[in-house]
Amino acid sequence: QKYVYFFGNGQAEGRAEMKNLLGGKGANLAEMTSIGLPVPPGFTITTEVCTEFYKNNQAYPESLTATVAENLTKVEALMGRKFGDPKNPLLVSVRSGARASMPGMMDTILNLGLNDTTVQGIIAQSGDERFAYDAYRRFVQMYSDVVMGMEKDILEHLLEQKKEQRGVHQDTELTAADWRELVGAFKLKIKDELGKEFPEDPHEQLWGAIGAVFGSWMNPRAITYRKLNNIPAEWGTAVNVQSMVFGNMGDDCATGVAFTRDPSTGENYFFGEFLVNAQGEDVVAGIRTPQPINRVKDKDGKLPSMEEVLPECYRQLADIRDTLEKHYKDMQDIEFTIEKGKLFMLQTRNGKRTAPAAIKIAVDMVKEGLIDEKEAVLRVQPSQLDQLLHPSLDPAAAKQIIAKGLPASPGAVSGQVVFSADEAEAEAKVGKKVILVRIETSPEDIHGMHAAQGILTARGGMTSHAAVVARGMGKCCVAGCGDIKVDYAGEAFTARGGVVVKKGDTITLDGSCGEVMLGAVPTVAPAMTGDFAQLMAWVDTYRKLRVRANADTPHDAKVARQFGAEGIGLCRTEHMFFDAERIAAVREMILSEELEGREKALAKILPMQKGDFIGLFREMKGLPVTIRLLDPPLHEFLPQEEKDLEELSKTMKVPVGALRHKVEFLHEFNPMLGHRGCRLGITFPEIYDMQVRAIMEAACELVKNEGFSIVPEIMIPLIATVKELQVLKQNAVAICDEVIARYGVTLEYLIGTMIELPRAALTADEIAGEAEFFSFGTNDLTQTTFGLSRDDAGKFLPFYVDHGILAEDPFVSLDQNGVGQLVKIAVEKGRATRPKIKLGICGEHGGDPSSVIFCHEAGLDYVSCSPFRVPIARLAAAHAAL
Ligand code: ADP
Ligand code: MG
Ligand code: MG
Repeated sequence: QKYVYFFGNGQAEGRAEMKNLLGGKGANLAEMTSIGLPVPPGFTITTEVCTEFYKNNQAYPESLTATVAENLTKVEALMGRKFGDPKNPLLVSVRSGARASMPGMMDTILNLGLNDTTVQGIIAQSGDERFAYDAYRRFVQMYSDVVMGMEKDILEHLLEQKKEQRGVHQDTELTAADWRELVGAFKLKIKDELGKEFPEDPHEQLWGAIGAVFGSWMNPRAITYRKLNNIPAEWGTAVNVQSMVFGNMGDDCATGVAFTRDPSTGENYFFGEFLVNAQGEDVVAGIRTPQPINRVKDKDGKLPSMEEVLPECYRQLADIRDTLEKHYKDMQDIEFTIEKGKLFMLQTRNGKRTAPAAIKIAVDMVKEGLIDEKEAVLRVQPSQLDQLLHPSLDPAAAKQIIAKGLPASPGAVSGQVVFSADEAEAEAKVGKKVILVRIETSPEDIHGMHAAQGILTARGGMTSHAAVVARGMGKCCVAGCGDIKVDYAGEAFTARGGVVVKKGDTITLDGSCGEVMLGAVPTVAPAMTGDFAQLMAWVDTYRKLRVRANADTPHDAKVARQFGAEGIGLCRTEHMFFDAERIAAVREMILSEELEGREKALAKILPMQKGDFIGLFREMKGLPVTIRLLDPPLHEFLPQEEKDLEELSKTMKVPVGALRHKVEFLHEFNPMLGHRGCRLGITFPEIYDMQVRAIMEAACELVKNEGFSIVPEIMIPLIATVKELQVLKQNAVAICDEVIARYGVTLEYLIGTMIELPRAALTADEIAGEAEFFSFGTNDLTQTTFGLSRDDAGKFLPFYVDHGILAEDPFVSLDQNGVGQLVKIAVEKGRATRPKIKLGICGEHGGDPSSVIFCHEAGLDYVSCSPFRVPIARLAAAHAAL
């Protein structure tokens, strides 16, 4: 078995496709080497070693030591240096790299191989003692932190002391002697704190670092990140050992990170940042303000771009950008270093991007001939669209701008200010919307970033931790906002003009332009235009599943149509009953003892219901509309307050006492399993009769007066036995035919049912004898299959998910194994009886990408979801079909 893969000098044993084995970083280092890009030579220890390491009680495979030694010799040969050699030492970096990129999760060690002897070799060769000792002290800091478990701050404190003692502010002002002394002081302190020596032997250093990378796979930050991103622990990480190149040997040196296109907007220009005379993560650490790569885009023109400062290197890098995009056919996120005017590539990967960027890049790349339309559709993740379907700031709204930072991740959000990740999490748990405000974020803050609506940082660039992670999460983020001074102790920040914002105050962030505003600024609904519309047009050519929306009002119906809904899959009529004018009539109906009273009340409701349906049908312009007859337990409509009872008693001319008695009588212990759904229709047929009449009169009027073609779909909820449906269907058909005859029009209509009880699914063959369509009500079906009340589940379901008892909340993502089986049974049995039966789903799951894919596979005709999720469902349906 091959445990180590070499890359260097134009040749590599690995390839980009070998990410599972070599990790993303290793696979792409190999690929870049093979396509002739300048990559410092090195080798990758495979992820299989990591897996075996954990399987075998943290021991390496036997052959590993020898193989690593062999590969090290190859690197030495290419570099003309020897690891540990006093005169001509090879220095390496040890870098982790998992299959999926995990920003900031794993720790990289640079300059490994330095000790008191080899540093002399570096001094002699570079002729730069300051550089050599700076590299050495960085190595001691990183190694003691990552490998030895030394508290970072302790050495950082010694460094601060040194600067104070020398009366300087910047690291760059310290001399060679200062750094040399610090290396000594660091080592003493480490001995002091940890009781062990800092290792001088380069081989011991190397194996220590390799062990630490494998060890970091199981550190809490990495575990949290994997959990949030559904990355299995079995994947493991690879280790890359690579010869060092130095961006910190003078002003003809630099280090930087870049994206081949703008990851925020998707615009096609070279986007990135670099620092002259710097090493490793200086750019992302936010210690010095980085400079832009591209001159054109630095509109403020404050800092000279790389194009101006290092024009020759810029040209090389721009060529590499083209090569990479043509080769990978996707936007790349790259890391590079320039050593004495020579450019080296240290990393490339497919860049994370916001949803608007993902769409623009996919569409542009089709235009540029890099990818085809199918590939473009697959490039955008359905769940990503959520970002675009959120509101943006109302341009007409008044805004009090108190600060401006970098537009790190788009979106417009408001919330109360909190200053720590833990607080963000705690406040979000109790339902508050919060904005996490930090000087800068680190991997320890991920849980808080997750819980917050948006993130605001005072420091850091477009590639800082906050920016990268927020974009990955699709969270709104304003980063590097130098206008604010954060005071953690005082739980407040100061903004422009001395405005003080305290913990709990509300602010608004606009991640698309970087503005921070006081208070909550109103937002407007998103629109589907331009590249988004283009992509969705392609999407529609691939999908088989139709997508409808759950909409109760003409307004919702309009939004749904704008998002491409092809009908209404669920119109909940009960929402129409809550209207202030109507609720009195509804209560009157419920509380009447006699049929006569109920009919009187229903007669008041009929014209209003009819008006609702006319509005809805008109808005849907002949597209199918499924209307569900009254479903919730009646008690939901009952008056709770004394004054409501009194008012009702006057209109109904019934004593308050009698009404109160009736209300008590209607109380149910378990209303979700109580007197609701078709059970109401069975016991109070006049309610459904009124609704059916309203639907049909509305349809007939439009057909007759406005020349509409409509096929109303009347849906009866909560059927458990075919007998219920038979009775209710008979009543409905009688009314339908009577209305049609009265209007003298020809009108088709369908009567169907929801499948939302296990018994209905299991007897779907019988039910399909009556039902002309099924709509799976997967909310109730989940509830009744699990025997789990949706309204009470909040108390324990999160615990189940956190502890892995359930992989996911079954109300969010359809439980394919259990509930899904019932769906499949019902599909099969329903079609056996009635081959042409229309099948759809109208639970919340209709807008959940993995559930949509399930519906495609189960052979449903359509999914129906909330209007704002229609594009997500359309894209998921296309992915399912491709
Ligand atoms: P991460 O996964 O956190 O991005 P990396 O392994 O990419 O960590 O290392 C971080 C940075 O360290 C790189 O971007 C690069 O600047 C620097 N680095 C890593 N290896 C080398 C090397 N061989 N020579 C010079 N710099 C290096
Ligand atoms: Mg890192
Ligand atoms: Mg990196």
